[in-house]
Amino acid sequence: MNWEAVIGVEIHLRLKTEHKLFCRDRAVFGAVPNTHVCPVCIGLPGALPVLNPHAVELALQTALAFGCSVHLESAWARKSYFYPDLPKGYQITQFEKPIATEGRVTFSSLEGEASVRIRRVHIEEDAGKLLHDKASGASAIDLNRAGTALVEIVTEPDLRMPEDVRSFLGELKQTVEYIGASDCNMEEGNLRVDANVSVRPVGSTELGNKTEIKNVNSFSGVEKALSIEIKRQISIIKDGGLVSQKTLLWDDHRSELREMRSKEESDDYRYFPEPDLYPLLLSQKQVVAALNSLPELPRDRRYRFKKTYKLKHYDAEVLTQTTANADYFEDLVEINVDPKVAAKWVTGPLQALMNQRGEDAQSIPVRPETMGELIGLVEVGVVSESAAKTVLVI
Ligand code: ADP
Ligand code: MG
Repeated sequence: MNWEAVIGVEIHLRLKTEHKLFCRDRAVFGAVPNTHVCPVCIGLPGALPVLNPHAVELALQTALAFGCSVHLESAWARKSYFYPDLPKGYQITQFEKPIATEGRVTFSSLEGEASVRIRRVHIEEDAGKLLHDKASGASAIDLNRAGTALVEIVTEPDLRMPEDVRSFLGELKQTVEYIGASDCNMEEGNLRVDANVSVRPVGSTELGNKTEIKNVNSFSGVEKALSIEIKRQISIIKDGGLVSQKTLLWDDHRSELREMRSKEESDDYRYFPEPDLYPLLLSQKQVVAALNSLPELPRDRRYRFKKTYKLKHYDAEVLTQTTANADYFEDLVEINVDPKVAAKWVTGPLQALMNQRGEDAQSIPVRPETMGELIGLVEVGVVSESAAKTVLVI
């Protein structure tokens, strides 16, 4: 029998706001532990949350970038659980009424263009962080992260291959970076991915028992962890067993999955309406303004580059990797560098230079005007290509 995997992911993105979601503490990464905390984000009795409108704006843009239906009324809920990094004992999130539902992410899969449906997008606050390497035999707690603004994106179980999960995440990350809603840096925990996976016989439409993989810290880690878990599930079923629903933790050093806990159901969280916050109300005007404020998205820019500049798919893909690269390329074209020549220089020597210097197309000292002049000299044969590359490095 042939088996297929069924995969759905939950992505948490830290929104790029200066302040936390419900208080005026700054949301900063890497500060001295517990220096950005106040009664609100640690939930002292009597402290009241006040919603940060910038977080709503960024979440709204994210939802719209993926074509979601935005709800003019959404609501806040308390998700109760105990953990040392959550002194409040609950997390403020959106449960029954999220800000947006039903979107889509289109990406390049192994079999061509594919798309994954987004089930919901909601806003929530983050918890603090346990530090296991600060004190011997004990864990320390840093609450700087407590109360920072996150957006969670939950997909339908539409993915089938671990490789596709990686491309899908790449597309999602690129889009979010384009709109500037999050830095999407996995090392700093700005982007966290939990992957849910089950297997079933090819042709079946039923969903099997799933496991949830947490603690992955790179896209390649997600891909690897899923491949291992899919094999494990298939072998259990082939041996006549049943996959038990549980949460697994990815250990990147050992490349293995460890069991964390049996999965709790949403009932276990005792969700109830947050009494200290009004429902989140958006006006039609606000939604339209957010839609109009979206920049050209990666997919559209890629398509336009291929069409307008007659670039190969690969070049268009590389050039639109970041807004800065794409802008640099278009600046060159604007000063009359032939698009194909400009593409060659930006994806080749300039990219090499940026990698070498650890800079991007925005910060690199060689600006498009100078670059354009240099390319011009090469084109008319005054300077050889290799000499020009040497000049770039100096
Ligand atoms: P839970 O109640 O366990 O959190 P949800 O239905 O809320 O499960 O779904 C969480 C995520 O898991 C979603 O991304 C969804 O697409 C995915 N998912 C749900 N059921 C399955 C399944 N049987 N196999 C793979 N993924 C699944
Ligand atoms: Mg869930």
